[in-house]
Order: sequence, then structure tokens, then C-alpha cells
Amino acid sequence: KAKSLGKNQYQIFAQAMYEEACQRLQMETELRKGMQFSGFTLHYQPIIELNTGKIVGTEALIRWYHPTLGLIPPAEFIPIAEETGLIIQMGEWILKQACSQLRSWQEQKIVDPYFYISVNVSAYQFSRPQFVQQIDDILAETQISPQCLRLEITETAIMDNTSSAAMVIDNIRQRNIQLSIDDFGTGYSSLSYLHSFPVDNLKIDRSFIERLQDTPASLSMVQAMIQIAKNMGMNIIAEGIETNEQWEQLKLLNCPFGQGFLFSQPLDAEKIADVIMNGFQKK
Ligand code: C2E
Ligand code: MG
Ligand code: MG
Ligand code: MG
Repeated sequence: KAKSLGKNQYQIFAQAMYEEACQRLQMETELRKGMQFSGFTLHYQPIIELNTGKIVGTEALIRWYHPTLGLIPPAEFIPIAEETGLIIQMGEWILKQACSQLRSWQEQKIVDPYFYISVNVSAYQFSRPQFVQQIDDILAETQISPQCLRLEITETAIMDNTSSAAMVIDNIRQRNIQLSIDDFGTGYSSLSYLHSFPVDNLKIDRSFIERLQDTPASLSMVQAMIQIAKNMGMNIIAEGIETNEQWEQLKLLNCPFGQGFLFSQPLDAEKIADVIMNGFQKK
């Protein structure tokens, strides 16, 4: 009996693996076809100074509208783009697109000269020796000053490529481009890497903000992160603020910056320009 059950489970497992492999392959095929990027677009989510509600910058988040499959979220195609190396081409497109968009907002006087754009960069993309040259080219081409560009990387991106990461981080900081650790608190339990890999901003992962009101432990952890950032001369940004209570709590903790659905969902360039000029939509 048990044996046949085991066999059944194996078959179910094998079937699930087969289906997943097919899905991945289909996604990879679609990605390869999509490399002219006509179906891709960037959405933007405002980053807010929590005390004043002022929008100081925006994070670029990629969206893929597939002609038959519909909207595919980045969590479904970024990992496959990373595994297949397509992320290199895609990452270059994203950086170019984000910088051109910022340039256009600057030209239309929609944003002030300090307004920045924050771009997610994959580990593989970041650790390539060509990366810094690519950034230089894009900044020159779009006429964006390095101070207006921020790069978001994860702790894993640094830790998996320690030697090349150190060099890239050095080169990037020499250019006055700010680096942010994305999803801070979810990657490595050791904080010692912050000594060897100095960054400018920590982005507290959404999961901590989600539990902020529920458990005293979450509150202490967020408090500790804010304190660490302060002591090390880093900036801190809370991700995933969804309620007024969270906003109030973060202000009490002296967290300077944040972003989240409470302020705005990620929106297309036109809608976000409207938010920047006219404030947030009343809910
Ligand atoms: P991330 O960089 O940590 O981006 C934040 C994610 O949280 C975004 O999901 C955003 O829509 C979502 N979010 C923002 N505020 C809230 C909130 O208040 N509540 C909740 N529940 N969610 C919120 P999205 O756009 O689906 O992106 C998911 C992840 O995909 C990103 O996480 C990032 O790791 C990756 N990604 C997105 N765009 C790019 C890109 O252009 N390049 C690369 N390499 N990765 C990207
Ligand atoms: Mg991010
Ligand atoms: Mg994040
Ligand atoms: Mg992330």
C-alpha cells in the first residue's frame, strides 16, 4: 500500500516537474521573441520623504504585456532572464529606458534637478566587468548626472560575487552613483559585509513593515535597522508601506524615507508625472 502511494506521489511529482519545465521553456521562448522590448514597459513607484510626504525619487519596475499571455509579473520572468543570460540585454534596456524617462521629466520641468531614479540591477548584470562602462555610456547618452541614478542590488548579489562586486561597487561610488541594498534583512544574517561593501541606502524589506504593528519583535528589528543605518552614515527607506498606522509608526521611529501602496502603486510614466505634479490621488 505504502509503496504504491509512494509511486503515485513520485508520478505526481514528476508530472509537476515536467509541467514546470514546459512552462519555463515556453517563457524562455517568449522572452527570446520579446527581446525587441516592444511589449515591455517601465512603471514607476514614488519614494517619499516620510515627514513631509514629498516625492524625492522613483523606483523603476519592469512590466511585460504579452500579446496573448497578458500581463506577466517580473517575479515570473526576471529569474528566467537571469538563468538564460537574457537579463544582460534586458538590464541595459531598463537602464536606458529609466534614464531617458528621467531626462524627459527633467526637460519638461516635471521634476527638480535632485529627483532621482532607482533601478533594480540583477546580480549577474552587476558582477560583469562591462557593467560600469555601460552605465557611463547610458549616462552620457541620456545626459543624466550620476547623482540622479541609484542602483538597487540585493545582499545576495554582493555575497555571491564578492571579488567582482567589490570592484564594481568601488567604481560606481567613485562616480557618485548611489547604491542601495534592496530587500534588506531577508538575505544574510551577518551584517559584517556592510563594512567591506559600503553602500549608501538600505531598503527595509516589505515583510518587516507588514508585521510592524503585530509583533514587538518586528518593531525592534525595524528600529535596529534604522539605528544601524544612522550609525553607519547610510540612508534608510522602508518598502511596502500600506497603512497610515505604518506611516505614523515609521515617522515615530525616525525613518526618513519610504514607499508603498499607501502613497501610490507603481504607475506608468504619464500617470506618475501627474502624481508628481498634482499630488497623490485621494482614496
Ligand atoms: P523590489 O525591487 O523589491 O520591488 C518592490 C516590489 O514590491 C514591486 O513588485 C512593487 O510593486 C511591490 N510593492 C511596492 N509597494 C508595495 C506595497 O505597499 N505592498 C505590496 N504588497 N507590494 C508593494 P514588482 O514590481 O512585482 O517587482 C517584484 C520584484 O521583481 C522586484 O522587487 C525586483 O526584485 C524585481 N524587478 C522588478 N523590476 C525589475 C527590473 O527592472 N530589473 C530587475 N533586475 N528586477 C526587477
Ligand atoms: Mg527594488
Ligand atoms: Mg524590495
Ligand atoms: Mg527585490
